Amino acid sequence: MVAKLPEEEHPKQAFGWAARDQSGLLSPFKFSRRATAEKDVAFKVLYCGICHSDLHMAKNEWGVTQYPLVPGHEIVGIVTEVGSKVDKFKVGDKVGVGCMVGSCHSCDSCHDNLENYCPKMILTYGARNHDGTITYGGYSDLMVAEEHFIVRIPDNISLDAGAPLLCAGITVYSPLRYFGLDKPGMHVGIVGLGGLGHVAVKFAKAMGVKVTVISTSPNKKQEAVENLGADSFLVSRDQDQMQSAMGTLDGIIDTVSAVHPLLPLFTLLKSHGKLVLVGAPEKPLELPVFPLIAGRKMVGGSCIGGMKETQEMIDFAAKHNITADVEVIPMDYVNTAMERMLKGDVRYRFVIDVAKTLNP
Ligand code: NAP
Ligand code: ZN
Ligand code: ZN
Repeated sequence: MVAKLPEEEHPKQAFGWAARDQSGLLSPFKFSRRATAEKDVAFKVLYCGICHSDLHMAKNEWGVTQYPLVPGHEIVGIVTEVGSKVDKFKVGDKVGVGCMVGSCHSCDSCHDNLENYCPKMILTYGARNHDGTITYGGYSDLMVAEEHFIVRIPDNISLDAGAPLLCAGITVYSPLRYFGLDKPGMHVGIVGLGGLGHVAVKFAKAMGVKVTVISTSPNKKQEAVENLGADSFLVSRDQDQMQSAMGTLDGIIDTVSAVHPLLPLFTLLKSHGKLVLVGAPEKPLELPVFPLIAGRKMVGGSCIGGMKETQEMIDFAAKHNITADVEVIPMDYVNTAMERMLKGDVRYRFVIDVAKTLNP
């Protein structure tokens, strides 16, 4: 048998920006993608959000990065080609891809529509496809993915501000639902008002929940209350403010990207309250046990959401007019954007205008 050249197996020439080393700096990169298989959808990328995970991965902060890395998992665009066995999508449809592009389709998690917890789940970038090739994300001109992992973007969702729903949106929507923090009258805390945090406030409010933002940035207070609809705002480094809110929260969604103390958050919870971690700092957090025992409190985690729930989330967002607050940037601004995100200097998500600004 004659071995196939990579370009025969991956005949679609693609172009994007990639990180090459732990500096995390991105630069132009040519690569190839697979031909559209019978169950695949190919689409032209229009916009891609910048998630803090892209930065963690570009800098290899989680120790799993393989370079070159083309990040991006908040990807939206327009379908250009569908395989012969694709029935849900056609050329011209508005679609998106989030954090995963594959799973085994046969384990318990897959059967329960929880592909995100499949042991063989394939991440959108920096992972291995079923055929052994590396996946590349949405900081690039075109995407090819299995139909099952394609999300339909409702007509009233704008594509730039809607892109961040595909990771940030589902990552906070899923735990609000799963941990039962979606009941009107409940009081939920959102820690970290960044990309994930600001859409968490919007989703929780749309579910009828009372929301308190817990933030290190006093200058975000006015926006949180007036623009995002939060009911109250606590500066986490202000002990008096934190003290005054002791024992008031039914649950907390913690979106913080860096190491931070959990004890003050446990103190905010009522007895039986739940702290759900979705932020993924590079180093382990310290877990004080006594406050958990004393109040029968719980700590949990959550990873994005399954495809069925992702579509449900985006349809819910469309119904309630929820999108991200975005700063749309050109591709060659990506390194500056990453730096600014790290400093918390973004309101609240950078989105790359890929179609207009990615020049091969
Ligand atoms: P982001 O936009 O940078 O927001 C993170 C926020 O955390 C900041 O805006 C800041 O909010 C707060 N923060 C930063 N450093 C802090 C510190 N030292 N102490 C306390 N608070 C701090 O990031 P993102 O895109 O929302 O992502 C957040 C985290 O979630 C990242 O670790 C990312 O990798 C992870 N993530 C996880 C999943 C999942 O499935 N579990 C999915 C997506 C992302 P304030 O200014 O309000 O304090
Ligand atoms: Zn993400
Ligand atoms: Zn599976």
